[in-house]
Amino acid sequence: MTRGVRMVMLGRQGAGKGTQCVRLSRHYVVPHISTGDMLRAAVREGTDLGLKAAELMAAGELVPDDVMIGIVEERLDSDDTTQRGYILDGFPRTVDQADALAKITSSRPLDAVIDLDVAKETVLERLAGRRVCGDCAANYSVDKPPRYGWVCDNCGGDVVQREDDTPAAIEQRLADYESKTAPLIAWYDERGLLEVVDGYGATDEVTERLLTAIDQRRS
Ligand code: ADP
Repeated sequence: MTRGVRMVMLGRQGAGKGTQCVRLSRHYVVPHISTGDMLRAAVREGTDLGLKAAELMAAGELVPDDVMIGIVEERLDSDDTTQRGYILDGFPRTVDQADALAKITSSRPLDAVIDLDVAKETVLERLAGRRVCGDCAANYSVDKPPRYGWVCDNCGGDVVQREDDTPAAIEQRLADYESKTAPLIAWYDERGLLEVVDGYGATDEVTERLLTAIDQRRS
């Protein structure tokens, strides 16, 4: 079996992180850990975390660092991630989260951090047309809908517009990305971990570029 990988995927909302992370996680046989998906599951299940996070998420605001760090630390402590690795999507999003991640992973450091690069003007268009499965989080768009109605091809769930894909919440999330998350690109570059990958082109092409960049880092 192919060797696993420990990596972080950075990139603007709508850059294609979710779609590509699912493909990469199948290729390297490691879990795709999306903090956004974990929080949405908590909201659906009505857990304490979900109750705390729901309002912030709907407004496109970040959940506090200490909450997020706790969730990720616990997830990275499980057998599947310690044995084969993981693809982190949506974390870290602030320098404090990146600092905490460096501590959490000190005994098993990251292989790579990818910046999936797509310009702001492009992601604005993509987010407006984005639709997702409410059950398995598969991504679709008004241009690429599921085969039958708005029923998920993978799991039969309802495909809907995300609650935070409204113009106001999109604006808030992109502003937070520029001010809080984009600085991590330089932060990881200084630490010799960063690979910038062009996020334009067909989904398969982007996957190929990602595999090439990641494999270089693993060898
Ligand atoms: P997007 O990247 O499109 O905003 P995500 O699915 O990654 O979407 O995250 C959705 C929401 O979940 C964020 O807007 C934020 O409220 C919360 N969230 C997810 N990850 C984090 C994180 N690492 N730190 C703080 N908030 C987070």
